[in-house]
Amino acid sequence: MSKVLVIGCGAVASVAIQKIAQNHDTFNEMVIASRTVSKCEAFVNQLNSDKIKVVADYVDADITSNVVGLILKHHPDIVVNVALPYQNIPIMEACIQTKTHYLDTACAEVRDKAGFEYGTQWVYHEKFKQAGVVALLGSGFDPGVTSVFSMYAKKHYFDTIDTIDILDANGGDHGYPFATNFNPEINIREITMPGRYYQNGSYVTLPALSRKHTYLLDQIGPKDMYLMYHEEIESLAKFIPEVKRIRFYMSFGQSYLTHLEVLENVGMTSVNPVLFQGQEIVPLQFLRALLPDPASLGPRTKGKTNIGCIIKGHKAGKHVSYYVYNVCDHQAAFKETGSQAIAYTTGVPAMIGAALVVQGIWKGAGVYNMEQFDPDPFMHMLNEWGLPWQENFQPVVIEDYED
Ligand code: NDP
Repeated sequence: MSKVLVIGCGAVASVAIQKIAQNHDTFNEMVIASRTVSKCEAFVNQLNSDKIKVVADYVDADITSNVVGLILKHHPDIVVNVALPYQNIPIMEACIQTKTHYLDTACAEVRDKAGFEYGTQWVYHEKFKQAGVVALLGSGFDPGVTSVFSMYAKKHYFDTIDTIDILDANGGDHGYPFATNFNPEINIREITMPGRYYQNGSYVTLPALSRKHTYLLDQIGPKDMYLMYHEEIESLAKFIPEVKRIRFYMSFGQSYLTHLEVLENVGMTSVNPVLFQGQEIVPLQFLRALLPDPASLGPRTKGKTNIGCIIKGHKAGKHVSYYVYNVCDHQAAFKETGSQAIAYTTGVPAMIGAALVVQGIWKGAGVYNMEQFDPDPFMHMLNEWGLPWQENFQPVVIEDYED
């Protein structure tokens, strides 16, 4: 039986916390901590479970010594970081100092420069190795499940993988003209970066959202999908070294794109501070304060997400085309957890990754990406814990986009 410390109490945390509480055969104690203790306490009251002991605490996870103090107070077996990517490094450093397993769901970022690369976290490999504990990076859906999907395909259906196209489609509607499905600041930083994909050992860069393809997706229908950069491109290229091309596509509606364009044009998506009435403000952080809290979208969002990978390559000299994906219903996710599908599809894999690490099924010492462990137990748990996946060998595109 294990004790988990969850840092963060937002949209993704709310699902991870509930799934951890449901998995009381693995976890019997949980601490929930963030800067807003009242929100953490609300989760404790809401769970009200006699199967798992849950307490709330305060932490400002920007400061390593605070996290060290919190870990030494509670002695968790693992820290599940579902705060923001800004807190990854301080929390990782605290886990090294206290010899505690670590997990996150998104690549580390710094506040004053949009962008991310795994190198900033991979440099901690030796320190985690010396501490004898695991840091599991990117245990959400994308990154996370998309990497596990790819390794499952490699293990069972391919000798060599040539191409991976990751498709993240949201067929949900929350009724707002403009809102983001997870933390607005992190989401807008990601979307407004230049598009980038991996090809033959290097990266091809394109203007943001400048390449669109239409995919015909199960239970969602045709979706306009835009090429973006995403962190699992970097880890997949590293751990599937023969791969020739990896692309990531996300769906956006026209209203979202029009609002985003206007906001960008007037400077509201900038991360550079400006002086306003004698006070420095960051436009994107101000915008975040105006937008709906993603945690509040649950009751309003109807429709489904469809996230998966089209993988092409060879087995025994024959060409293979394979598609693996999950469809998640926003309303079903809300009924079970009070959250929409984006939070659900991230919070469930966070719990699964944590369970596999504390059970020693995913075992090691060092910093690991999802690609480095056996995909089978994770795939099994996806079916068991609410994210069933489907596979087929049919194309899912209206046209085949090979450029
Ligand atoms: P929210 O904004 O809803 O929640 C963020 C939480 O982080 C809040 O509870 C906040 O609490 C906490 N937090 C922020 N700063 C600190 C701090 N200094 N110390 C302690 N806690 C802090 O975000 P989401 O739940 O939407 O996203 C959470 C994470 O999940 C993000 O990293 C996001 O990138 C990732 N994500 C990953 C996905 C995937 O598929 N891999 C998909 C979607 C999201 P408080 O203010 O009280 O401190």
